[in-house]
Amino acid sequence: RLYNEVIELKGNIRVFCRCRPMNHDEISKGSSSVVDFDSAQENELKIIGPDSSKKQFKFDHIFRPEDNQGNYVLEAVFAQTSPLVVSVLDGFNVCIFAYGQTGTGKTFTMEGTAENWGVNYRTLKELFRVSNERSDIMKYQLFVSMLEVYNEKIKDLLVEDTDHPAKKLEIKQSAEGTQEVPGLSQVPVHKTDEVWELLKSGSRVRSVGSTNANELSSRSHCLLRVTVLGENLVNGQRTRSHLWLIDLAGSERVGKTEAEGERLKESQFINKSLSALGDVISALASKNAHIPYRNSKLTHILQSSLGGDCKTLMFVQISPSSADLGETVCSLNFASRVR
Ligand code: ADP
Ligand code: MG
Repeated sequence: RLYNEVIELKGNIRVFCRCRPMNHDEISKGSSSVVDFDSAQENELKIIGPDSSKKQFKFDHIFRPEDNQGNYVLEAVFAQTSPLVVSVLDGFNVCIFAYGQTGTGKTFTMEGTAENWGVNYRTLKELFRVSNERSDIMKYQLFVSMLEVYNEKIKDLLVEDTDHPAKKLEIKQSAEGTQEVPGLSQVPVHKTDEVWELLKSGSRVRSVGSTNANELSSRSHCLLRVTVLGENLVNGQRTRSHLWLIDLAGSERVGKTEAEGERLKESQFINKSLSALGDVISALASKNAHIPYRNSKLTHILQSSLGGDCKTLMFVQISPSSADLGETVCSLNFASRVR
């Protein structure tokens, strides 16, 4: 397989599956893998059930656990996403989502680490690179916003003053018919280093007030928005487009017995918004006349960036472990519904 061979993708909605490697814990417990890549066709995988039955799933691209060597796979992941990302400079709206159970690598794919940059940072880097390349004919301005949706409430993650709780943000429709969030910070960015700092500070704000940052982050959606203003220096034509990079809340179902009070409320909000997202994307994929954007804050805020000539990419993240079989099948079913 040629990892950096960019696949030609048709249509505006595409789904990639990424399976993380077994972790130490799973290896030491002797967990077996339930994901079979080898007996399937290219871009297909099979899930092996407890009764050895096999269920097949197909994607636009699959990243296997063994692809995860050093920085190599992130290059490969990014090689597949960069053409999409660049189309934001041509004036298209783009959404990239990471979907999956907590612990399957959503944040690893989107944020990455300082040694292993994720999609977010690489995307901005690529946007700067291409915009410089086009500087003869196009003038671009880039702005970054970062927000969190938790329990159907929107929080600005780039507010300077963390002593004062950020005001509640609402979604409003502009005169042009686009969905806007008045009051949301928009930070102008000129080079990649600025972006890295910004993303770090956003992540810090995100965890303020929670006892366990990881836990909270798995129950809220984190949205990074890049606004691109373009001006054609030849004909004066202007464009405004958004790229959304979204680390979704964990898709795992919470057992009825373990969920009470706040936790139950949270899981209901998560279920509602993730299924609203599934409903919107599958309605778009099947070209339905009515697209139910208004059923959650997540889909409402993205209304102008999902559908039409907008481009959508979803990473469905899965675990190979037999212990996660149920959640893995749920995630793959979700992915099949939107594809
Ligand atoms: P999520 O955001 O879905 O909860 P994380 O991104 O936090 O999951 O990943 C959980 C753990 O697994 C982290 O320690 C992460 O570094 C590791 N991990 C996830 N995906 C991969 C991968 N493809 N290769 C290596 N390690 C991974
Ligand atoms: Mg995460």
